[in-house]
Amino acid sequence: MSLKFTNSLSKKKEDFITINPNQVKIYCCGVTVYDLCHLGHARSYLNWDVLRRFLIWKGFKVKFVQNFTDIDDKIIKRAKKEGCSTDALSERNINEFHKDMDTLCILRPDCMPRATKCLHQIINFIEELEEKKIAYSTNGDVYFSVDKHINYGKLSGREIENQINNAAGRLKTNQEKNKKNSLDFALWKKSNSDEISYSSPWGQGRPGWHIECSAMVKQELGESIDIHLGGSDLIFPHHENEIAQSEACNGKELAKYWLHNGMVNVGGEKMSKSLGNFTTIRSLLDEDISPMALRFFVLQTNYRKPLDFTEEALKAASKGWERLNNCLSFGHIHKIKDQDIYEINLDKPIKRTVNDKLDKDSFKLLSDFEKYMEDDLNTSGALSILFELSQPIRKFINLLKEKDINEVEQDNLNQVFNKWQLLTELALVLGLKVNLKERTQKNKQEVDIQRIEELIENRSLAKSNKDFILADKIRNELKNMGIDLIDKPRGVTEWKQLSD
Ligand SMILES: [Zn+2]
Repeated sequence: MSLKFTNSLSKKKEDFITINPNQVKIYCCGVTVYDLCHLGHARSYLNWDVLRRFLIWKGFKVKFVQNFTDIDDKIIKRAKKEGCSTDALSERNINEFHKDMDTLCILRPDCMPRATKCLHQIINFIEELEEKKIAYSTNGDVYFSVDKHINYGKLSGREIENQINNAAGRLKTNQEKNKKNSLDFALWKKSNSDEISYSSPWGQGRPGWHIECSAMVKQELGESIDIHLGGSDLIFPHHENEIAQSEACNGKELAKYWLHNGMVNVGGEKMSKSLGNFTTIRSLLDEDISPMALRFFVLQTNYRKPLDFTEEALKAASKGWERLNNCLSFGHIHKIKDQDIYEINLDKPIKRTVNDKLDKDSFKLLSDFEKYMEDDLNTSGALSILFELSQPIRKFINLLKEKDINEVEQDNLNQVFNKWQLLTELALVLGLKVNLKERTQKNKQEVDIQRIEELIENRSLAKSNKDFILADKIRNELKNMGIDLIDKPRGVTEWKQLSD
């Protein structure tokens, strides 16, 4: 099996072949920093963080660039409302962005250019387009001529003619009246006299939104890159326009692969600022949801699908994470004599280790994990492998309730330890980092959890012995304790508390 991604350009799952051997250049559209980030942002950046970690684990050299849009209409409006400068507002929200992303263990990009710090590159880019007669200036604004670019619409599949007809019915703003074609988009916008502005060959103004990404990609990564990332809401017009600008200017394909994540839905509607149904990352984490539980919740859904957000689903994910965290804690808690303790820096992306001490079952799970991830980043499949791998560890933890660790046979101990090392490594590929504090804090409630785990083990055993009467009896016993069981493929059983 080889690495495959669904490319939005071809709408097909394609083999991933890099431009330069073993190197991956990635650009991801960043946030407009006028406010705090919401769950939609967390979803997007968590998915791309896993993509990056997986590529590094596979041995690729990755350069990851993500921008900050620190000047636009929303920023100007918000700064005016708060009575501060756009710079001060952007600076504050960039700091808050870093806090949220760091909490969620999202690796910082290698480079994070800001629009206001790249004005020179942006202006040069627009000038090149003007020289090529693909852009025109009118009254202090500069527009991109969509009909001068043959492939306009290749990403979104929208046809120019239809678009023009649609746009013709709309009421035009004053600025739009200066355009030659209703689909032409702004590369440079003339500023109102009371707004922040920057000097340019076309007078005082500021860059349009799309041009900054084209200029930054060229500046930081070159004319062609391997992967361009973003939310599916950016396909049109943002990404379509990025392609038009870059390819018209450079005469080269901007990106080989375009990956887009699905949206977060609340009650069947897209979560967005404009609909007012958004939940900020900050408020979720304040409500006692651990950052890793949030990561776990997001990764349960594959990146391209819509993610349905409900309190219940989030709570169930917290339970799942708690169980996994319990197993991930194992090797850190039991410092075993003569054991080669796996010393890894949990804050750095991990490279694949060659572990020849693994037993056959573990090797199989390792290869299944890789197959899932290679198949367009199937994170839900990858998580099911983590659970399978954690089963023998959980069993061992239960055994330690009756037996001292020093009484356990060395071979047995080594085997469990090797499994734990592998579990730790694979969890880190998904950016799931053990939280020892969380475990100790929850220890008091774990009496029950451990009893539940025991009963689930007994039920699995009864099922494998074809003693279905006993298996049902155990299921009922758990039901009486308020626990519902969900049987998943590969013999994995998950549980959740029945709501009152
Ligand atoms: Zn962009």
